[in-house]
Parts: sequence; structure tokens; C-alpha cells
Amino acid sequence: MLSDWHTALKRLALLFLMLLLVGWWLNAPTLTLLIGTLGYLGYHLWQLRRLYNWLRDSERDEPPPPPESRGVWGNVFDGMYLLQRRKREALQHLRSIIYKAQESTAALEIAVVMINNKGGLQWWNPAASRLLGFQHPRDDNQPVINLLREPLFIEYFNTPESYSTPLKLGSPVNESATLEFQITSFGEGERLMLVRDISQLHRLEMMRKDFVANVSHELRTPITVITGYLETMLDDRDSMPTRWVKPIEQMAQQSLRMENLIRDLLTLSQLETRSASKQQSTIQLSSLLQDIQRDAQQMFQSKEQEFTLHCDDTIYLKGNLNELYSAISNLLINAAKYTQPQGSIQLAAERHEDEVTVTISDNNPGIASHHLPRLTERFYRVDESRSTGTGGTGLGLAIVKHVLARHGGRLEVRSELDRGSQFICHIPAERGVSE
Ligand code: ADP
Repeated sequence: MLSDWHTALKRLALLFLMLLLVGWWLNAPTLTLLIGTLGYLGYHLWQLRRLYNWLRDSERDEPPPPPESRGVWGNVFDGMYLLQRRKREALQHLRSIIYKAQESTAALEIAVVMINNKGGLQWWNPAASRLLGFQHPRDDNQPVINLLREPLFIEYFNTPESYSTPLKLGSPVNESATLEFQITSFGEGERLMLVRDISQLHRLEMMRKDFVANVSHELRTPITVITGYLETMLDDRDSMPTRWVKPIEQMAQQSLRMENLIRDLLTLSQLETRSASKQQSTIQLSSLLQDIQRDAQQMFQSKEQEFTLHCDDTIYLKGNLNELYSAISNLLINAAKYTQPQGSIQLAAERHEDEVTVTISDNNPGIASHHLPRLTERFYRVDESRSTGTGGTGLGLAIVKHVLARHGGRLEVRSELDRGSQFICHIPAERGVSE
């Protein structure tokens, strides 16, 4: 390239030398130089025009080859042609990727919606038209919250912190369908929304919940009758043949376990099916905690444990009294259940800037750290034999977790082997009421 440029300069110098010689020979050097320069300029103007025409024609679908030329202009044409070809190949490659992406998303059952940084619809696949009723070109660039007007969706869409968990909602185009929405932020304020039809899963889930609720309900009466009879028989154990006493005692113990299990299953299914907003009242936390402590102390009187309570009388909460009673009492009963006789158990409530915490601490042998993440799973027990001996159902902490979630809160468990455990209920401050 550089050598061509040098050659061109050499040629130009030679041309001027020749013009000077011819001009000197004709005795008109200025005129000869002028004619020569004009000729040289004309040549370059002609080449520029060829370049312009070729560039204009290159806009077409089938671009023509570059004009034939030698020297510097030949290099310019070839270089531009090469650049054009590379650009065209890159464009082709990108086009084929976009085409493939569109083709594969078109085949998806899941709705894929791209939302621009103003919240408007940028692009969506055919499944989105089917599941959400979006239509081209009517809905192009329309704000998504104008098209999906369900308040729960609008709140979810406007709260990026909640995007980590999907949202379940009824379909806007089909009353019997249930959809799951999941949004991911990307780029500069853009969002990608994935929506899938989970009607089948939802129906199965509802069937499971109904089944558990119905079975538990149906079993409650027979078990209560059996437990009642067994207890009555045991009241009269002195007149009973001795070989019957132990089996009947065991039967009474197991039927009590079954009764507890059914009670907890029913509580859980009610928590799952009833709406959270029902039966809210303003609760004075100290008086609720006093009731819970009194009942637990009475239950575990024989263990002679030391219970202490710290709660400011001015802490009030808005919530469901029965549910909060059941959650905190579950935690206190667990603490008493798993703590040795004469052990100590503390119940304390504190108000912080953004939450109210209720902490139940004990000094029992504690729980190994690898159990902690799974503790609130249904039927999860640290030590099967110890829990069955204590009449536990393995559902208590699942109930606690559910109740707290319904109050916008969460359960935190801290425990160390040989140092005891702390179960902390975090309840958001907006539930706190100033009295
Ligand atoms: P359970 O009815 O068996 O008590 P939970 O769901 O209430 O079921 O508790 C799950 C398991 O967590 C229990 O089986 C027990 O092993 C452990 N656990 C719960 N609370 C405590 C506690 N305060 N101290 C030690 N272990 C506990």
C-alpha cells in the first residue's frame, strides 16, 4: 500500500518534470503546467465519480463489483470492496442468528416478551400472543401494565426486588388458565418476561391440597373417639388385666400422635388455602406472649424449666391473632420440648427500625448446622427417635414459616451444638402499630 503511494508520488513528480520540460521546449511553461494540472485533476475527478457511482449502486441487494482501476485508485476500490464484503458477511451472520433465535422462540410453549426501558412491549413470540393476547401491530410499544392490568402484576412489575420469585396469576385471556410470570432485568433498564402456562400443575396442586384437607378432616373424628376411649380405659387401669396396660398405653400414645398430626395437617392446609388478609386485628404483643408462655409452662410443668419474658408493653402488631399464637407457641413448645428439665427458655420481643423481632432462645443441646437449611421442610426431623418420643409431628416449623410468610415476615434459625438455639421471627415494621 505504502509503496503504491510512493510510486504515485514519483509519477506525479515525473509528470510535473515532463510538463516543465515540454513547457520550456514550447516556450510556454505556465500554460503547459496549467493544462497538465487540469488534466491530472480531471483524471482524479473521473475516478471519484466512479467511486461515488459504485458506492451508490452498492446499496442494492446485488452490489456490482468495484470499477477496474490500477495504482492508488485500484487499491482504494479493492480495500473498500473488502470492507464491504466483511460487513455484509457479519450482517448475514447476525441475521441468521436472529432468525434462528426467532424461529426457536416461535416454537416455544413459553411466552417470551422483551420490554424496553420505558416499560413498553418491544418484541414477543407467538406463545405470548396466545397466552397474553398481545397483537401486532396494535400492541407494539404499548406499556405492558396497560395490557396486563391485574394489580398484583403491576406491583410485581414495579418491584424489581421481587423478580427472584415467580408470580402466579390467572390468564387475562382464559379464565380457567393459571400462568407463572418471571421477569429478568438486562441491558439498560430493559426486561425479559417469561410466562408459562401452569394450569395443569396448579390443578394437581389444588387436588393435593384438597385431598390432604379432606383426609385430615375425615380422620379427625374417628381418631378423637379412639383417643377418648383409650384414655377412659387407662383411667381405670387398676381393674384392667396387667398384660393389657402396656399395649393400651402405647395405643393411647400413638393415637395422640395421630391426632396431633391431623391437627397440624389441617392447620397447614388452612394456611395454604385461606387468604391472608382475613381476620386481621391489632394485637398487643406482650399480652399475646404472656398467654403463650403461661400455656407452655403449664404443659411442661413437670420439667421445672425456667421461663423468662421480655417485651415492651407498647409493641402492637397488626395480624391474625390465632395464626401468630400458633406460630410463636409452636416455637416455645419446641424449645421446652427439646430442652432438658431445669433448663432455661427465653422469650423476647424487640422493635427495630424496619421490623419487630420475637426471639425464642433455649439452652438445649442445639442443632448441627447442616440441618438448619432443611429444618422448616415438612416432616423434617433432626433426630427421628427423639422427635417421635416427644410426640412431634415434624410439621410445627413448616406452620411457623407459613404464618410468618403470610404476615410478610420470615423465620431465622441460629443454633450451635452444646450452646442452644435461637428461633427469631422477623415481622416487617409496617405491621407495627403505634398506640
Ligand atoms: P416436631 O413436631 O418434630 O417438633 P418441628 O417442625 O416443630 O417438628 O421441628 C422440626 C425438628 O427441628 C424437630 O424434630 C427437632 O429435631 C428440631 N427442633 C425444633 N425446635 C428445636 C429446638 N428448639 N431445639 C432443638 N431442636 C429443635
